[in-house]
Amino acid sequence: MSSDNTFVCPSCRQLDRVQKVSSIVSSGTASISTSGTTSVRVDGETHYGSVSQSGTSTTELARKLAKPSEPSGGCNPNFWWTVELTCLFLILGSIGSALPLISIGGLALIGIVGSLALTIGFISIFKRVHVFFVRKEKAKELIREAAMQEYNKRLATWNAMFYCYRCDGVFTRSSRFAAIANVAEFLSKG
Ligand SMILES: [Zn+2]
Repeated sequence: MSSDNTFVCPSCRQLDRVQKVSSIVSSGTASISTSGTTSVRVDGETHYGSVSQSGTSTTELARKLAKPSEPSGGCNPNFWWTVELTCLFLILGSIGSALPLISIGGLALIGIVGSLALTIGFISIFKRVHVFFVRKEKAKELIREAAMQEYNKRLATWNAMFYCYRCDGVFTRSSRFAAIANVAEFLSKG
């Protein structure tokens, strides 16, 4: 029975107890839902209600051989642009609203020049802040890329992984045997 789905276990040199890990996990994970009616007696009156329950049932083996989980998403790069632009508009708005007060008493020119200087000052601060956040975001993106690469490697290994029920361990066509306790390590080595 040598097909695409079975392979000889490197530990016991047999294939009769070998199964593909992905099919063990999919058959060992089931969603359950139960529903029914219930009744309670309150002050001599019977009240009926319906109850339902749902959940996921996973066998111990399916849990141990679980598919690698995808790294969580990073921060949206547009997020900081939105925050920064909002701050800039707030600053410009407050300068604008202060302008009529400054122009009272012949100080209009000083007011305008002062506001312009303030605006330029704020823009240069804004640019620095932006560069800071962009750098931070790029570093995060690199970390996420590395995590994704690692995840894709794990996933490829997981998809190629077989389990031997006799030896309680895993292997791929190109790798040696590893005990089930070392599955995490096996996945990270590829
Ligand atoms: Zn075996």
